[in-house]
Amino acid sequence: LTEMTINQPKKRVGIMGGTFNPIHNGHLIMADQVGTQLGLDKVLFMPNATPPHVDLKKAIDGRTRARLIRRAITGNPLFDLETLELQRGGKSYSYNTLLALTQLHPDVEYYFIIGADEVEYLPTWYRIDDLLQLTTFVAVKRKGHEQLSRYPVIWVDSPMIEISSTDIRRRIKYGQSIRYLVPEAVEDYIKEHKLYQDDKKD
Ligand code: ATP
Ligand code: MG
Repeated sequence: LTEMTINQPKKRVGIMGGTFNPIHNGHLIMADQVGTQLGLDKVLFMPNATPPHVDLKKAIDGRTRARLIRRAITGNPLFDLETLELQRGGKSYSYNTLLALTQLHPDVEYYFIIGADEVEYLPTWYRIDDLLQLTTFVAVKRKGHEQLSRYPVIWVDSPMIEISSTDIRRRIKYGQSIRYLVPEAVEDYIKEHKLYQDDKKD
């Protein structure tokens, strides 16, 4: 190693994990607020693999969810898609994923972004103490959720956007509008491919 590579500051990268079924403007606002407020170099959207027991009608498989993410983030150089969990398939524990990512990219410092609703469940996460050695948690404040955690968490303030993927799927099923809830390119793709239209579950 030359002195220059040793002194190279680490890249700081945010990770937004989720099902993204589908991605919506709530996700994008949250990722943008965290990325810009913390001055991150990138924020990666990382869709999880479809758990085999989850019966997703109309086959909103990983590839399709990733395609929607790609459409949603086009034009924002802060954002990128990370397909590691999709490639691995099955259920991925965040600990295993972060271990793999840090081994693949030792020059990167990861910030794991979660909604405030997730913070209270951190104690139940697989190998949480080891995971905390691999990443810094960033939580986005959300109404109705206390900013209390027994683990170190960076709290970020963001406009409260009451959008959820569940609500979007339900709106599509009942023929209601999802305009402005998802990016136009996402809405177009959903319409074009008639996604979620006869969803059995919501
Ligand atoms: P679902 O309704 O299916 O649970 P979702 O909209 O919550 O979907 P997920 O893919 O489960 O989306 O969420 C991924 C991450 O984004 C989670 O950390 C979650 O807390 C956060 N999140 C989801 N919706 C919002 C929102 N409207 N504002 C801020 N954070 C959100
Ligand atoms: Mg959710």
